[in-house]
Amino acid sequence: MIADLRVDMERLWATLMASARIGATERGGLRRLALSPQDGEMRALFARWCEETGLTLRVDAMGNMFALRPGRRPGAKAIMIGSHLDTQIFGGRFDGVLGVLAGLEILRTLDDRGVETQHPLIVANWTNEEGARFEPAMIGSKVFAGLHPLEAALDIRDKAGVRLGDALRAIGFAGDAALGPEDIDSYFELHIEQGPQLDALGAKIGVVVGAYDIRYLVVEATGESAHSGATPLADRRNAMVAAAHVVVAVDEIGAAHAATGARSACGRLVVEPNLLGAVAHRAEILCDFRHADPTVAQAMVDAFRARLPAIADASRCALAATREWRYGGAPYDAALAGLLRDAARALGHAPRDMLTVAGHDSMNLACVVPSVMIFTPCDRGVSHNEAENVSRADVEPAVNAMLGAVLGRDAGLRSEPGAH
Ligand SMILES: [Zn+2]
Repeated sequence: MIADLRVDMERLWATLMASARIGATERGGLRRLALSPQDGEMRALFARWCEETGLTLRVDAMGNMFALRPGRRPGAKAIMIGSHLDTQIFGGRFDGVLGVLAGLEILRTLDDRGVETQHPLIVANWTNEEGARFEPAMIGSKVFAGLHPLEAALDIRDKAGVRLGDALRAIGFAGDAALGPEDIDSYFELHIEQGPQLDALGAKIGVVVGAYDIRYLVVEATGESAHSGATPLADRRNAMVAAAHVVVAVDEIGAAHAATGARSACGRLVVEPNLLGAVAHRAEILCDFRHADPTVAQAMVDAFRARLPAIADASRCALAATREWRYGGAPYDAALAGLLRDAARALGHAPRDMLTVAGHDSMNLACVVPSVMIFTPCDRGVSHNEAENVSRADVEPAVNAMLGAVLGRDAGLRSEPGAH
């Protein structure tokens, strides 16, 4: 019976711990930046596992990896399970990795039990999800979804000036697989919550029914280089002063909407020349606004833009938003969420409906194919941190619920509308 299928947690855990050795940090975390030698090593190991499982590996021009298990029905579109194997600079062992390896474990489990599916199944590893090396984040899935031009993405450079396309070739993962949204029936992504809700509730399964609307703006402040002592204050155009005003403005705008769950932050500040004795001539500030309601997210961005002229006046610098990215906003698929809830209940768990505040590849996929996410708890919600941790008991229910939901989708099951 398919209903009693359960993944092999020992085997899943063994793959997670093997992954945890590649790019391991002294404090028990991972530093596996996108397209670094460590990412290349992890990709090669994942490719070997896929091969040993009898999966056909395809790699596209963005280095996105797709491990394919054929289905029985000719022409059926694939059900895809995916996430990412890259990490932050001081990242944890489970963020993204869990989703990819849970997908692999699900396919291995189906093999063990000789279960054939109607649809092909694909496990995906998306390139540069974190954005810790190449900006913007989630660029592999963004290109796949047709939301960003391929050539422009390959031309993105890291801080050392290395082109993304060249870095892909250097680790041997510039492919030519022609796979696109038109080949995909549906997309599932399992991920640690990266927030404290599930852990605090003692709940094991979060069904992600929607995503915050996430807006990034890169603001450049242009002033003039000067001596930090000899130049009279009135003659200065200090880009660092402009940046300070920007950081405070971003914080205040978030705070003004905090009651409705807004988030805002400046995650990165680059100052030039950043030297003792020098007034900064240039600053680049990465500003980040998030809200569950797209109209409020837009209002926050509008309020921010409206404050730029006053900041320019106060600092006597020129200010401009030079780059802008948007994620989320597209709804997740209600039918897939229903299947996840049903599968969770069948396992004896009470699923919690949630929104994701963090960015995920599923946000890009949701724009073009029916998509859904499933969250597992993580200790105190700590993530993007070497201390990020989960237990096997924390993640097992969600992995099995995803297995059940994938099989439900394959069988064309529909969730009982009244059951929620
Ligand atoms: Zn992640």
